[in-house]
Amino acid sequence: MPAMEFMRTIGERRLVVWGAGMLGRCLMRQLSAFAEHRHATCFADSNHRLIGQTIDGNKVLDPIEAIELASQRQAFILVALGMHNRNALLRLSAVGLELGADFTSHLKLSRPEAVIQVSAGNGNDSVTMPASTYLAVLYKLKSDIPDLFHIELSGWGDPLAHRDLPHIIAMTLPVVPCTVTTHLMDEQTAIRRVLQAEPTQLVITPPHEINRPEGAEWEVFVANLEIVADHRRQKACRTEIRFRFPRYRDNDAVARATKKLCDKHGIRWIEAVGYIDPYDTTLDLCRSDNLAAPQAQELAWSLEDALAVAEKDRNLPCLCQRIFPVIYPDTSVGICHLYIQPRLHPGYLSIAYGDLQDLRLSAEHCHACQHQALHRLDIDVLQMRHKIQLVQLCPSELPND
Ligand code: SF4
Repeated sequence: MPAMEFMRTIGERRLVVWGAGMLGRCLMRQLSAFAEHRHATCFADSNHRLIGQTIDGNKVLDPIEAIELASQRQAFILVALGMHNRNALLRLSAVGLELGADFTSHLKLSRPEAVIQVSAGNGNDSVTMPASTYLAVLYKLKSDIPDLFHIELSGWGDPLAHRDLPHIIAMTLPVVPCTVTTHLMDEQTAIRRVLQAEPTQLVITPPHEINRPEGAEWEVFVANLEIVADHRRQKACRTEIRFRFPRYRDNDAVARATKKLCDKHGIRWIEAVGYIDPYDTTLDLCRSDNLAAPQAQELAWSLEDALAVAEKDRNLPCLCQRIFPVIYPDTSVGICHLYIQPRLHPGYLSIAYGDLQDLRLSAEHCHACQHQALHRLDIDVLQMRHKIQLVQLCPSELPND
């Protein structure tokens, strides 16, 4: 359901977004843009440290209070809890509230996202999008997608390589929440400036070169993580900071070491499934029937087995439709965030959004991707849908050294 329609359905009632994390904050921003003055908005959250606080101008209620308001038809609850969504929905049903009439899940809402990759490459080889171009792209995006939910500023590059990144973040925040994903290997001044700009979310991922928790690069990474931790300890830090660890077959040592560091600093460490990035390579392997290639051996799951399961879902829609467009530093538009090539159009600023969507719908590349069932190759989704275990190891469950 589009944001505007959703806000109409809740009528005069107050909107309560249950979940004051990144997901809830993005939803609140998206929906508030369509709220008429009579709509009071607030969060609910079970985290006792948040209850009573104000986040992005919205008070945080105890969920019990939100339930009471919904029972009196004074509020509509939108559950935005990610992994704990199901439990919250069951709890609301159990107290007699009606799904659809008194509450719903964020999954029912349209949540369009976009990627603007503001820089590519490193050092002298880096290509960056000028801040003035970025602003034009941002405004066109907002006009093309009025209910834009979130922007990712990284894509295939590390945005910290862009020296105007703090300015870019400052231009973005009044328009839409944004995420900066970084390997955190830049100079410390750049890291401090970006933290001060307070992107909505900062996601840290370990650089690919670090295979062991040792050596010069590891030391740089640890020192830079310390800077982030210091910033986070400041009371006023409004950025949601998390560490995303992509899991491969042989990266247990780095998994343990980074988890230990994050636990020490109170940074949330999240394990994610590692893939062969970008999907351009995976498609090549499929086409050449080389599913046992060295890249596939690095995965914590079997590419062959996963594709066999994905094949069963081949007729289902592509999983990444929601994230579009993907715009590169030269303003060319990519087909989706999984592939680097092909580009749909050389310049986002010179094409009408409807024409861009048509180009995507008729793209030959999508047929090739779907032919191999790669549009359904999402390990978490496959495991959930088919109730199977594709990932073999789970370092996050191993004890720290
Ligand atoms: S079908 Fe494949 S290439 Fe096309 S948008 Fe989906 S994942 Fe990307």
